[in-house]
Amino acid sequence: MIHAGVVGIAGRMGSLLAQGIIDAEDMVLAGALEAKGHPVLGKDAGTIVGRDLQGVGISCVFEEAFASCDVIIDFTMPAVTVETARYAQEESKHLIIGTTGFDEEQLLMIRDCAGKVPVVMAPNMSIGVNVMFKVAAILTELLGKDYDVEIIEAHHRLKKDAPSGTALGLAISIAEAKGVELAKNACYERHGIIGARPDGEIGIQTLRAGDIVGDHTVLYAGNNERIELKHQAHSRQNFARGALRAVRWLKGREPGLYSMIDVLGL
Ligand code: NAD
Repeated sequence: MIHAGVVGIAGRMGSLLAQGIIDAEDMVLAGALEAKGHPVLGKDAGTIVGRDLQGVGISCVFEEAFASCDVIIDFTMPAVTVETARYAQEESKHLIIGTTGFDEEQLLMIRDCAGKVPVVMAPNMSIGVNVMFKVAAILTELLGKDYDVEIIEAHHRLKKDAPSGTALGLAISIAEAKGVELAKNACYERHGIIGARPDGEIGIQTLRAGDIVGDHTVLYAGNNERIELKHQAHSRQNFARGALRAVRWLKGREPGLYSMIDVLGL
């Protein structure tokens, strides 16, 4: 049995992850953390996600929440995930990171943690999106310089970071396939008299509206034709299922920073 813990159990992703762990035959929900002052603190982790009593109280202290866990899953926010990584590193816990929006310093800390324990980190845990990363790189290579590339993403109105981690993941794949540096070629917004589109630019455009779970389109436009590569998530279940697949895959791995491409063997 894998003893798994969830950071941010009351969140949109946290509650789905907890349900998935409770419903899995090979896993036990062994720990749950929420923010200081959150109304669910002290309550049972099973009942707050609509399942039977699990005998696991929700805590705001890492040591209390995760002492009996083998693996911790964190889909929260960067500052919280960095604390989780620090704890996982000190206590030798495996770690799954779904949080997006890290800065360079936070990423360095996570890489440091992955030097000591195995970590899977992916901005999008869905199988379809990870296949799309691969396909986007192949299309970029096949179409070459004559096709302009634009990434368009749409998410719900509550999403905190922009562009989405997935859009950035696609942009990284595309920049690598083009053999260029993303920082020098990315264009995140356009307004006013912008002039002609620079050669090699990678456009990354963000939409925020309603309850959209997550849409990503890569547009390849040449003269007289275009290709659109599109992924639409119908529900967050998709991400939770991918995260639990990563939990199983991580068992027995050496320390290192792994992606969903590794988990899925793509
Ligand atoms: P959310 O706001 O619904 O949930 C975040 C939870 O974290 C909340 O319950 C909040 O109370 C909790 N939290 C805040 N501070 C905390 C602390 N100090 N300790 C413990 N818990 C704390 O957000 P969400 O929609 O579930 O998304 C969370 C993250 O996951 C975002 O970064 C989002 O971009 C990312 N995400 C990733 C994927 C993926 O496949 N990788 C999919 C969906 C969302």
